[in-house]
Amino acid sequence: MRYISTRGQAPILGFGEAMMTGLARDGGLYVPERVPAFTREEIAAMAGLSYEELAFKVISPFIGDFFAEDELKGLIAKAYAGFGHAARAPLKQLGTDHFLMELFHGPTLAFKDFAMQLIGQLMQAALARTGERITIVGATSGDTGSAAIEAFRGLANVDVFILFPHGRVSEVQRRQMTTPVESNVHALALEGDFDDCQSRLKDMFNDFDFRDGVRLAGVNSINWARVLAQVVYYFHAGLALGAPGRKVSFTVPTGNFGDIFAGYIARKMGLPIERLVIATNQNDILDRAMKTGEYRMTGVDPSYSPSMDIQISSNFERALFDALGRDGAAVQALMDSLKQSGGFTIPAEALKMLRETFLSGRASEEETLATIRSELAASGELLCPHSAVAVKVAHENAGQGMMVTLATAHPAKFPDAVEKASGLRPALPPRMADLFGREERVTRVPNDLGALTSLIRERLGK
Ligand SMILES: *Cc1c(COP(=O)(O)O)cnc(C)c1O
Repeated sequence: MRYISTRGQAPILGFGEAMMTGLARDGGLYVPERVPAFTREEIAAMAGLSYEELAFKVISPFIGDFFAEDELKGLIAKAYAGFGHAARAPLKQLGTDHFLMELFHGPTLAFKDFAMQLIGQLMQAALARTGERITIVGATSGDTGSAAIEAFRGLANVDVFILFPHGRVSEVQRRQMTTPVESNVHALALEGDFDDCQSRLKDMFNDFDFRDGVRLAGVNSINWARVLAQVVYYFHAGLALGAPGRKVSFTVPTGNFGDIFAGYIARKMGLPIERLVIATNQNDILDRAMKTGEYRMTGVDPSYSPSMDIQISSNFERALFDALGRDGAAVQALMDSLKQSGGFTIPAEALKMLRETFLSGRASEEETLATIRSELAASGELLCPHSAVAVKVAHENAGQGMMVTLATAHPAKFPDAVEKASGLRPALPPRMADLFGREERVTRVPNDLGALTSLIRERLGK
């Protein structure tokens, strides 16, 4: 399997290199040259597989011979062994045609564990072959950072630096990043918002001297291996609800477009998905773009669902690449316009293609809280604010057949908003109950590339 950049100017890579590289050297994102598809019979034969067996079936065509069959099976087993639920991604019924897929039973209580735990195992196995050492730098609006730290802490061949927006993550998220004691873990509180964190990370990747000097690797949601790991649970839910005989739609709480793009890949692989519904909070650039064709930044307004507080939705570039007929130069032109003038117009033909797959909606702050309250009353399910945004949008888009809404975090990760909405303060699971008693270790950093690269070099002694 070969991987190409969405901007058409970077070297073509194999799976292992694409995983280690993250952002392509032309500023684009790696995508498979061709998405392999299953036949209807092959999908029917997947019914009844365990989550891990299904993961092997879905993932292996993209990996080629980079891992031997048994090695890959072993790494998948290790990745999901620490999850707190045997089904890994259990479904709960909310209504006649509406299910909730709980993706928060991993070690940091958010869906990002599905991808991060696997990528940690895959990277470690790849590095152990050669003995080389890499530096992972990640930008986070909260959940990616804790999931990355949990996946990489203590690994022999990896240092991990996480940039999070100072004062803009929840206390549980912050403590999950600042309390690990391993010396290869570095939590950095950046004076800026999440888009600043993401921009500085991109700058580091574009500073080739730094990038090569510290052997920089990325695990943000632009990393293809992360998208790939997330494809599995779309199949898992589809099969549980009758695929390939019955079509399913999904509503996805969306920020950086990584999670929902995995659903798009599942659809291309032959899983019968009717529609993928983009759910945004008040930071609704994607909803506006789908409705008007204008992708335009307006600044970030902090919300109850901070992991979706974003204006530049990185993985949307991958969907645009397909919608533009895989024309790298056309993608580059739109991204240049975004950088220079803060937006671009999606060409009419591309917009039409996107609308054949994606629907969209938004939830205001009040609607988010109201949905937490109403869903608790209706089904007894206590939602985190991100999941509540999606449940609200899913209700508006009922009538697309069976709907599965993705619950992306445990309510205890966002106790203040949940309590404000419902009067109930959700408790952390027992294995994390001492989080508030652990000592924190964090460095505050200015929103400045030079300051960041010097700090990282200094910590690494490079
Ligand atoms: C990261 C995150 C999202 C957004 O996912 P994307 O892949 O960035 O679209 C939604 N909810 C939670 C809880 C998250 O952590």
